[in-house]
Amino acid sequence: MLNIVIFGAPGSGKGTQSERIVEKFGINHISTGDVLRAEIKNGTELGKTAKGYIDQGQLLPDELIIDILASTLDSFKESKGVIFDGFPRTIAQAEALKKMLAERGQEVSVMLDLDVPEEELMTRLIKRGQESGRADDNEETIKKRLVVYHSQTAPLIDWYKSEGKYQHIHGVGTMDAIFADIVAAVEKL
Ligand code: ADP
Repeated sequence: MLNIVIFGAPGSGKGTQSERIVEKFGINHISTGDVLRAEIKNGTELGKTAKGYIDQGQLLPDELIIDILASTLDSFKESKGVIFDGFPRTIAQAEALKKMLAERGQEVSVMLDLDVPEEELMTRLIKRGQESGRADDNEETIKKRLVVYHSQTAPLIDWYKSEGKYQHIHGVGTMDAIFADIVAAVEKL
């Protein structure tokens, strides 16, 4: 089983690199952001709740997102592994993931930290907002998301280091070069 946590600030390229990892290693992909955006599009109760948090640049409550994660994980049959994209985002979520995988006789294989400087993140997200119209990719919300990232999510770097799972990836350069570094890190596991 290959269970990869792809980690990084908003705009660090998690989604793009996840798609390539899925293609190369044949594992399943869970993007909590994509799950929530689909719920919003479908106008579900969960979508309505999620929209309130996302538009404010805030995280959803841990219990809610952990439940979503668990049911998505259970929907994968005969999986070769999973790439977790956008989860965990808090220490409580990382602990829940560890427990969930342990209950299935599994563990996180590696945490890939896509490291990108703040000015570059800002530029990328503003551009993405203009091109895709993603409602949370506007300057004001991006700033809030970056604050949330630093206060609630970045502590996971030390958490995964202490678990012995941390792998730094330089997240600036061509998509191909970054992907090559990711493949090298995964293949040496
Ligand atoms: P980003 O580009 O900011 O990393 P995502 O598409 O992964 O964006 O997530 C968009 C939003 O969905 C987040 O800003 C947050 O409000 C919510 N969200 C996604 N994943 C989680 C999570 N694991 N815990 C709490 N909220 C989440």
